[in-house]
Amino acid sequence: HAARFREQTPKSRKFHDRAASVTPLGVESNVRAFDPYPFYTESADGSYITDIDGNEYLDFLLALGPIILGHNHPEVTSAVQEMAETCDITATPTRTAVQFMEKVKEMTPSIERVRMANSGTEATMHAIRVARSYTGKSMIAKPEGGYAGAHDYALQSVWASEEALGPAEEPNAVPYGTGIPEQVSETVAPIPFNDKENTEKILRKHADDMAAVIIEPIMFSCGCLKPRDGYHEFLRDLTEELGIVLIWDEVMTGFRLGPQSAQGRLGVTPDMTTFAKAAGGGYQVAGFGGRREIMEEIVPPGKGEGEKWNSSAFHGGTYNGHPLAAAAGLATLEVLDSGDVYDHIDRLGDRLFNGLQDAADDVGIDVNVQHIGSMGQVYMTDADIHRYRDTWQANEEQFADWWLEAAADNVLFGNPMQGERFFTTYTHTDEQVDHAIEVAEDAFRAVNHD
Ligand code: PMP
Repeated sequence: HAARFREQTPKSRKFHDRAASVTPLGVESNVRAFDPYPFYTESADGSYITDIDGNEYLDFLLALGPIILGHNHPEVTSAVQEMAETCDITATPTRTAVQFMEKVKEMTPSIERVRMANSGTEATMHAIRVARSYTGKSMIAKPEGGYAGAHDYALQSVWASEEALGPAEEPNAVPYGTGIPEQVSETVAPIPFNDKENTEKILRKHADDMAAVIIEPIMFSCGCLKPRDGYHEFLRDLTEELGIVLIWDEVMTGFRLGPQSAQGRLGVTPDMTTFAKAAGGGYQVAGFGGRREIMEEIVPPGKGEGEKWNSSAFHGGTYNGHPLAAAAGLATLEVLDSGDVYDHIDRLGDRLFNGLQDAADDVGIDVNVQHIGSMGQVYMTDADIHRYRDTWQANEEQFADWWLEAAADNVLFGNPMQGERFFTTYTHTDEQVDHAIEVAEDAFRAVNHD
């Protein structure tokens, strides 16, 4: 299935050798590597990415989430250009970053105080530390299969095999990959998403040591797992009862599932929230926030008196609130909070993902398309998918082949992995979505084994 892709990407194929001689796998981040090789990008505009061979792809990958207004939205681009001419970076606080944080606070139900970071990974790392400081406890719980960033504390029981994870009722904490100290796993209790009974058993068992539950409202790090049977309402009540900080990792869903993010959409208010991606409209914006008394763990008690300087949870970073990022973030949130962006991307999301399911059904291939609003995934199985272990039913290889077939027809349905997801964006049109569905249908036909 890679033949057509190879044929139309000779320059990328060649460039891949050069790239691999300077960086492992020839890519800047592991998730950009795939078989046979990635295409290398020349430019992006609106709904399209152009590669170095001149192929123009209709983009539903959208940079893994940040591109909610289309590539190079004029208001975001001009805010960045203006700031680039005004101020590079000073490591002194700026008005723009404060205005951005005010906007975040205004839009997000759970956020009374907020701090900025540069990536989702930094945001979850700091949020976890603050929650530990607030509770005086050290463990965290996270759903098995969930990705919450690349730091050691979060990179546990994600992309793990059945053998490593063990029992579904009480999964093992296992590091992803090497280089993570074994001891870190002792601080993590994986919980089974959408399984209230076993989640409750695990949280009660560790309640005295448990600082936080960090969880995605909808588990897009496993494709698209939707909460069922009041799972989040249950978790909200239980964490409150047990004195555990509930952190919603809205890195993927924040400012994408609505102006109030997933928490507004689902009507559940966590104690803390992390965000990134869509908040920056394509620039390196991230942050974390929550209840004032929790966030004030960052403030050293008696600051200024000297001796207590080290007694609070540290948060810092040279690039936090970078003027370019803050300008991009502020421009993005202002556009998101004013116009018809969510109506548009949600309507096209329904059109795209429902259309993909219909196309697969017409072809007669076993496919389960799951989506909420502008975000969703195609699973190569007809199995019901609502827990991480259900995703193992999906045919990973067939998905990668389907993805490659569509990429050869210049449509990018996210990344070629079942654990990913893809999006609609503000610049997408009905015609583009209908074209994508036609391409997808041909690709389903090409990979259908029946
Ligand atoms: N949390 C979630 C839910 C994510 O999806 C991601 C990234 N895909 C992260 C955290 C980490 O964000 P980043 O890649 O910006 O470090």
